[in-house]
Amino acid sequence: MTIDNDLQAWRAHQRTDRDFVALGHMLYWDQNTHMPPEAQGGRARQMALISSLHHRHATERTHGERLERLQKMASEGALSDTELRTLALAQKQFDQSSRLSGEFVARRAEHWGNIYNAWTAARPRADFAALVPLLERSLELTHEGAAPFLEGEKTAHDHYVDEGDEGMSAAEISRVFEDLRRELVPLLEGTLAAQAEGENPFAGRQISAAAQLAFGEMVVRDFGYRWSEGRQDLSPHPFMTRMGDHDARITTRVREDDPFEALYSSLHEAGHAMYEQNISPEHHGTLLAQGVSFGVHESQSRLWENIVGRSAAFWQAYGGDFCHSHGLPRLGHEALYRHANRVSAGLIRTDADELSYNLHVIVRFQLEADLLSGKLAVADLADAWQAAYEENLGTSAPTHSDGVLQDVHWFSGPLAGAFQGYTLGNIMSGQFYAAAERSVGDLAPFIAQRDFSPLLNWLTENVYTHGARFAPAELLQRATGEGLSAAPYLAYLQRKYNALNGTSL
Ligand code: ZN
Repeated sequence: MTIDNDLQAWRAHQRTDRDFVALGHMLYWDQNTHMPPEAQGGRARQMALISSLHHRHATERTHGERLERLQKMASEGALSDTELRTLALAQKQFDQSSRLSGEFVARRAEHWGNIYNAWTAARPRADFAALVPLLERSLELTHEGAAPFLEGEKTAHDHYVDEGDEGMSAAEISRVFEDLRRELVPLLEGTLAAQAEGENPFAGRQISAAAQLAFGEMVVRDFGYRWSEGRQDLSPHPFMTRMGDHDARITTRVREDDPFEALYSSLHEAGHAMYEQNISPEHHGTLLAQGVSFGVHESQSRLWENIVGRSAAFWQAYGGDFCHSHGLPRLGHEALYRHANRVSAGLIRTDADELSYNLHVIVRFQLEADLLSGKLAVADLADAWQAAYEENLGTSAPTHSDGVLQDVHWFSGPLAGAFQGYTLGNIMSGQFYAAAERSVGDLAPFIAQRDFSPLLNWLTENVYTHGARFAPAELLQRATGEGLSAAPYLAYLQRKYNALNGTSL
């Protein structure tokens, strides 16, 4: 077996791996956009089929043996840096697929199905107590699923964090989140106290869905989303999916009385998609042809949605057209800018504004840490939730339906790993944007002229083109010259909300 044979066979193996992923995405995309409701049973079977074929491919004995030979070549210095990075990802994927027994994976999947069904019944009744025994089982399975991966200091929480946000530890995230939380709580309180009463300019209106969609499509074209390699459809929950090289699709949803719903969903998903569209073609067909982590991906959706799309310059550029194309009276860009940035300490994470959003995430992350370390018992989770909301957001849910039961994540999977990427993304969006401005200067005048090329070019060169070539921390360091830090993001929030409300928080 020569080195070239192994490299070639490995390359083909990666191509098939990426195709399995894309096929799974295609089934999911269709299920959530165009599939007739009665087709559900067949679709579930097809998705299970693709995932079991993918798993078989990922755990082939010959593949494991080839990886061993490649590791040996690596130790002899025979692989390039790019190949070494790809090999590390391949080895991690192989270990994750092969270290858990088939019996455990099936048992766990069955439990996730059961607790999800129980949650859909318990949530409308606000019946947390009914879920406690099932959640206790989830916690056991969460630990059992991490056990084969624990070495040295690594905890189960670290394992789940690392699955989505490679290389990060729970302790590091806790530290950065605490820095953020300490500043955010007074900023939120002060902003709520200072914010002028605002009217909803869309109240009582009916705005055509077609007009809303056309407007969002124009804006993301201006951003640089390539329609020749994508499309937009409607779905109940907006998402972006990569269905292969040159195919990064987005979805949105429309509310006729709130055109911001469709617009900001489109901008968010287009941010994810532009990341995927601008990965270097050199990486296509390899494990590098994907966004590197949950957090870095979310940094791009949030950057385009919020830092760009909720800026004063954005509304200067688009306010007039927005009103005209939506059949609204001329509202003025200042009024639109204010409405796009109204703050309210609500209960629901998915409806939250930029200031309160991260507090929702931080509360969940801390509760997960306490559950996994054994500090918090499952039976006390709902009370701990209420106390944390009171402390951080100054509010608490009248019933558990809008409290501990609001998100599906804990009732369909492990009790860790799903939330931190959202806030890591916000933090990194501040770092990437600040670095782009250090490099190309103030971006607001360009945005006000609908010229997004300086920003897109910087992001492409420093983030997008690399795909998964560098681990998240290394990518961040190379692009911004610093490690993970909440300071630039906090400075952005303070600047924005102080200017909006005449405060000095
Ligand atoms: Zn997102």
